[in-house]
Amino acid sequence: MTVAILALQGAFAEHGYMLDRLSVDHFELRQKKDLERPFDALILPGGESTVMGKLLLELGLFAPLRERILSGMPVFGTCAGLILLAKNVEHDKSHFATMDISVKRNAYGRQLGSFYIEEEMQGVGRIPMTFIRAPYIEAVSGNAEILATVNKKIVAAREGNQLVTAFHPELNDDTRVHEYFLQMIK
Ligand code: GLN
Repeated sequence: MTVAILALQGAFAEHGYMLDRLSVDHFELRQKKDLERPFDALILPGGESTVMGKLLLELGLFAPLRERILSGMPVFGTCAGLILLAKNVEHDKSHFATMDISVKRNAYGRQLGSFYIEEEMQGVGRIPMTFIRAPYIEAVSGNAEILATVNKKIVAAREGNQLVTAFHPELNDDTRVHEYFLQMIK
């Protein structure tokens, strides 16, 4: 099994360290020719969703990746990666829009922009959650299911092959969210 990690910007290296710890083969997806390498799943990291969206379009990665996601390839979006997958995002156009979730960006305001908490995630258990200028999911619809909430805000969801977290599991020691994602690939 090989996982491609989108590496245009943001916290992609940390996902690589997680996959190293789980002994999973991975590579950094940076340009169109990287699409020729075989891969079974994709990680969209945290960072700045507007910048990533723009680069995806400019580099010609947007349409081919969107196609693969729609064809059922497992994808895991953290934070900005979650925003990229959401169908409804305020003030943003360049996102894949493949998942039936509505998202509010930079949703916690300046004071609460970054925080740490431990909460339950369905199918995973009680886990550390680090939020950095995080979005939250205002609503899920269609086949999207809620996997975790923090203070009544939805922070993790799944729709078939698509998994998203508003927090950054790659920034904590706990590998269980990545293990959950790897189960989706098998
Ligand atoms: N606020 C960022 C955005 O809108 C997401 C923050 C993050 O990925 N840590 O893209």
